[in-house]
Amino acid sequence: MRAFVIGNAAIDETISVDGLPEPGVSILGRIASRDLGGKGTNQAVVMARGGLETTLVSATGDDFRSATIHEQLAEEPLDLRLSSLAGVSTDFSMVLTTPDGENSIVTTTEAAEALPLEAALAALSEASSGDFLVMQGNLGGEITEALLKAGRERGMVTAFNPSPLRPYFERLWPFIDIAFLNESESLSLAGSTGKKAAEVLHAKGVRQVVLTAGTDGAMLSTKGGDFIHVPAVRAKAIDTTGAGDTFMGAALASAALRGGMLDARAISHASAASALAVARRGTRRAFPSRDELAAIFAG
Ligand code: ATP
Repeated sequence: MRAFVIGNAAIDETISVDGLPEPGVSILGRIASRDLGGKGTNQAVVMARGGLETTLVSATGDDFRSATIHEQLAEEPLDLRLSSLAGVSTDFSMVLTTPDGENSIVTTTEAAEALPLEAALAALSEASSGDFLVMQGNLGGEITEALLKAGRERGMVTAFNPSPLRPYFERLWPFIDIAFLNESESLSLAGSTGKKAAEVLHAKGVRQVVLTAGTDGAMLSTKGGDFIHVPAVRAKAIDTTGAGDTFMGAALASAALRGGMLDARAISHASAASALAVARRGTRRAFPSRDELAAIFAG
């Protein structure tokens, strides 16, 4: 089994602040880290480090940030399909983190929105039935819908993380097998949290819904099946950037390596993996290593 992640690649510029700024207020901050990020890249890196054969399809511009992304991704065990687009700005995120580990993020999506459909379709032509197609909210609505449909036509299992929030998500649900939402996404997209939110998405066609709730852990709901809660693994959180991406990447890799859909074990593995990530600063450098994921998946 193999995973195809089609999403963004970005540089995360993390700035430590004492508190998140109120509208209209200027505050001081300290550079905490500069690291490879982007939700698509994050999820792909965790899946690949977890030992799942993973292809990442993404786009950058042709500037200094693009060079950094190429260099850093070359260090990961990924099958890389990066389009470098002339005249386009490489995406970056401004991550503000507070001393208690809370964060607020602004992400640019110029390169992600310019990802050529043909590049993504060319990668998907190698996919087999049962492979995972993993997507997020950084690409444009039309390409996201076209790729989810193309994945379904090939018999792929589609996994979607509706972040950052976009108005076009509503029309995507019928093409999604597995959805991962945090609490604010759940409230915005399903009007509630917990079991009620899962039922809203099941009614729209989603087979499995994962609802993450930070230190309150995560829930897995399977249409016509169980609703389970898995507690978070205790951690001393210093930077929660990428916690959700680590969770999703680890859960999908754990399930795929055992040949199927998500189960309680995959959610427990994901909780352990994300607890490691929140206890370290940065994005890629905070993710669990290959050895750490191998040890988690053996449990
Ligand atoms: P982010 O946007 O910060 O990447 P998110 O909002 O998408 O994260 P969360 O629900 O905050 O997602 O976290 C995902 C999972 O990570 C949780 O379900 C939990 O297992 C783990 N996690 C998050 N924060 C902590 C923490 N402080 N301690 C331990 N585990 C945590």
